[in-house]
Amino acid sequence: MEKDISRLYELFESSPVLVAAYDEFDRLHYANPAFRSAYFIEPDETPLWPDLMRRNFHARRGTVISATDFEEWLRSTQSRRGKIGFRAFETDLCDGRWLWMTETMRKDGWMLCVATDVTGLKAKTRAVRQDRDLAIKASYTDELTGVANRRFVTARIEDMLQPQGSKEPSFGCLCVLDIDRFKSINDQFGHQIGDVVLRDFAKRIHSLVRRTDCFGRVGGEEFVLTLPATSLEQAQLIVERMLASVRMSRPLQEHPDFRYTFSAGIAFAKASDTAISLYARADAALYRAKLAGRDRIHTEESPSDRSALAG
Ligand code: GH3
Ligand code: MG
Ligand code: MG
Repeated sequence: MEKDISRLYELFESSPVLVAAYDEFDRLHYANPAFRSAYFIEPDETPLWPDLMRRNFHARRGTVISATDFEEWLRSTQSRRGKIGFRAFETDLCDGRWLWMTETMRKDGWMLCVATDVTGLKAKTRAVRQDRDLAIKASYTDELTGVANRRFVTARIEDMLQPQGSKEPSFGCLCVLDIDRFKSINDQFGHQIGDVVLRDFAKRIHSLVRRTDCFGRVGGEEFVLTLPATSLEQAQLIVERMLASVRMSRPLQEHPDFRYTFSAGIAFAKASDTAISLYARADAALYRAKLAGRDRIHTEESPSDRSALAG
C-alpha cells in the first residue's frame, strides 16, 4: 500500500496533468510540478487559494480574470467554489493555454483539483462554451451583491438535507438573515444608498463564511446561510460574529455616523425536513428575533423562547 502510494506520488510528480489538493480553509497542501509551474508556486509554498489568485492577478499570470475589480471577482467565485461535490469547467491561463479543470470535494472540506491541457480541442465551439459558462455563472449569482442567488442557495439547502453519494444526511443548520428596518434606510436616503448598504452587508457576511457553507441573497434584504454539519451552538457563534461585524460597519462616506443591524433566525435540520419546512422554522425564529427587538439571533430553542413557554 505504502509502495503504491509512493508510486502514485512519483507519477503525479512527472505527469503533465495538473494536480493539487486544498484543505477546508482553502490552503494548498500539495501541488505537482505541472500545477506549480502553471500558477507560479514555489516548491515549498502552501498559499491560501485567494492569496494565490490575488497575487497572480496583479502579476497578470496564472488564470485569466477579465474582471477589473479583483475582490468582487473573488467574492463571486468563492460563493460557488467548493460548495458542490464535483465541478468541471474550462479555464484560461495567461500563457494562452486552456485547461479543463475539475474540483472534487470531500465532506470534510478537502478538495482535489485535476486539470488537463485542452488547448488543441474543439477551438471552433469554444465561444459557445464560454457563453454557456457565463450564462451558468449568471444564473447562480445575485447581480446586485455578487453572492449566490436564491436558486443556488436553495439547491445547497437540498444538498445539506440529502447529500449526494451518501444516504445519511450530515444535517446542519439553516440561518435566515434580514436587515433591520431596511425600508426606513431606503426612505431616508433613497434606493441607491439602500443598495450600497446591501452590498456592504453581503461583503461583510461573505468574509465570515466558511468554504463549506453557502451564503446567498434570496430576496430584497433577506439572505440565507447554509451551515452543513454544524450544531445550533456553533451556528450561533458564527452568526454572533456576523452581528458584531455589521454593528461596526459605517458604510456611507457622506453619513459617517450611519449604522445598521440585522436579525437572524436559525433552525437545525431534522431527518424529516424538506427545504421548505426547514426554511419555515428558521423564518419563524427570525420573526421572533424581530419581535424581541432586532439586532439579535433567535434559534428554535432560544432561552427566551423557553422562558416564554414556562411563563
Ligand atoms: P424589518 O426590520 O422588520 O425587517 O423591517 P424592514 O423595513 O427591513 O422590512 P420590510 O420587509 O418591510 O422592508 C424591506 C424593504 O426592502 C422594502 C423594499 O423597498 C426594500 N428593498 C427590496 N429590494 C431592494 C433592493 O434591491 N434595493 C433596495 N435599495 N431596497 C430594496
Ligand atoms: Mg428587514
Ligand atoms: Mg425582509
